[in-house]
Order: sequence, then structure tokens, then C-alpha cells
Amino acid sequence: MATTDELPLFGASANTRVEYLIDQESGDWNLDLIHQSFIQDNATSILSIPLSRHKPQDRMIWTYTPKGYFTVNSAYKVAISMTRTLALVETSHDTEQTRFWRQLWNLHVPNKIKLFAWKACKKILPTKTNLYHRGVIDDPTCEACARAPKTVRHLFWECTITKDVWNLSDIPLDKTGINHRDFMDLLWYLLFKQHVDTKLVELVITTAWSAWFSCNKACLGEARQPLREIMLRALFSHLDTTGIGVTIQDHFGSVVATLSKRLPLPLAPLEAEAKALDEATIFTWDIGVRDVIFETNSTTVCHAMESPMDAPISISTIVLGLCSKLRDF
Ligand SMILES: [Zn+2]
Repeated sequence: MATTDELPLFGASANTRVEYLIDQESGDWNLDLIHQSFIQDNATSILSIPLSRHKPQDRMIWTYTPKGYFTVNSAYKVAISMTRTLALVETSHDTEQTRFWRQLWNLHVPNKIKLFAWKACKKILPTKTNLYHRGVIDDPTCEACARAPKTVRHLFWECTITKDVWNLSDIPLDKTGINHRDFMDLLWYLLFKQHVDTKLVELVITTAWSAWFSCNKACLGEARQPLREIMLRALFSHLDTTGIGVTIQDHFGSVVATLSKRLPLPLAPLEAEAKALDEATIFTWDIGVRDVIFETNSTTVCHAMESPMDAPISISTIVLGLCSKLRDF
């Protein structure tokens, strides 16, 4: 990747490559250089890409499909979403509204979470109730609690599962939602009435997104993710750090060695699991253990190790590096 005029990268030229941003000794991102050279949003995006310390071969990937292969369908969706975002910016004329949307778009959270918050404010999230009214599905009942139609209000405040998420979050706000008519009302209250730190607003919308993400997984018949994982997803993206723990046990189950690290990288849970496995192989190698069985909590990482070319793109570099390193054991 060549740098552009928008990126004042010190010592960079038009031919500068991504490896310039990587500390060649540790094999990880050069944090100081990245934080000096990029605005916060771009630095966070770069650092959320986990690197393999085993330096696998480069390859071309298309970032808009889960496995990195180009499809015309995905290109069409990208084009549509870009058009909508543009239309959105152009149609906000009212001053207060403009200020509200500008604050929303300037939050330091991934674009997908900003888009989610915008849809929640506009009441156009594809909830089961919305889909029911459009004749897409026959039954709007919330599959998580089976107690009520799945409206935005139910999804964010009333569902038993969501209440647990808010209670775990320690966010100082009215968790019943009774004082807020809808999601936009809540964000408006936080930004313009309480004037809270934008970090809190980022945490609120990230937590709401986590609940939405989890409910969608359940809706698709996939296993609901543990609440702890939902909160980790929200908290780690808020704190821009990732905790990694490795335990080595002998065949009696006794602990032989442990490693605990906090990486200054804003990794999501899947990328953090892959990075933990990467660190585990280095740690195991360094202390001289060779006859070893590696375990991870992530079935996605397990499947990726069995079929590296089908790994999700965000961890494919780590997986390919691991596959080559494991041959040395
Ligand atoms: Zn429910």
C-alpha cells in the first residue's frame, strides 16, 4: 500500500509500503510511528488488524466479503452503501440535527457501529417488527425471550437478555429506557442535555450494537454468544487494548507456565483469540516445549487452522503464519 497526501507519514515516499509501519524486530505494529502519523480513527483501524509474528507471504484480498474473495454482489452492496452515506450527509440541513449527526459520525467507533446507531435513531433497523410490517416474515415475536414483538424499544430496553447486557455495563444512565422515547432521544439527552464525555456515548452505542449483534446471531439460529463476550467486544473497542492469557499444562493437568499480556491494540474477540494463539506458539517455543497440543476458545480459529485458505480475512495473516510456524514443532 502506498501512502497518499492525506497521510503525513514521516520519512515516507510514494513507494513506502505497509512494512514501514511494522517494527521489524518484534514483528508487530510500530505504535509510536502509527500514533504520530495518523488521526485517531485511522490509527485505530490499522491497529485493529492483528499481525502474525511468523511473517507469512503477502496476498491480495477483497475486504468486503468474509473470506476475502471478490464477488460482484459484494461490490454492488459497497456501491449502494457509499451512495446512501453520501445522501445522508447531503440531506442534513437543520442546524441542531446537523450538529447531532456530525457528533455521531465523529465518534471513535467502527463505521459499522456508527451506521447501526444512525439506523437505530432513524428507526429503520431491520427488526422483526419492521420486517413483519413489510410482509417479509409472519411472526414478529422476539426469539430471545418469546415474550413480546421485537421492536427497537424491546430490543434495547425490555428484553431480558438486553437488560442483562446493560446491567453488566455499569453505564450510568436510565437502564429502563422509560425516560427516553427512542434511541435518538437517549443519545440527544446524553450529548446535549447531560453533556457527557463522548467516550460514554461511544460505550453506549457499542453496547447497544453488541446486543443487536447477539440477537441477530440468535435469529439466524447460531449459538448466542456469552454476555461476557458481548461486553468484552464493547469494552475492548472502547479501551483500545486487548488482554491475552496463555496457560501451559502437562499431561496431568498441572500448570507448567503461564503468560499474561495486555496488548495496546483494539482487537475484536475473534482477532484477539487468533492473536492469543500466535503469542502462545512463540511463548511455547521460547521456553523449549515442542511436544504440544494447542487449544483455543474459538471454534472459528480452530476451523481456520484446519482450512487456512478459508479463514476469515481479518485473521488470515495470523493463521498462515501459524501454519508455517507449527511445522517447526
Ligand atoms: Zn426479547
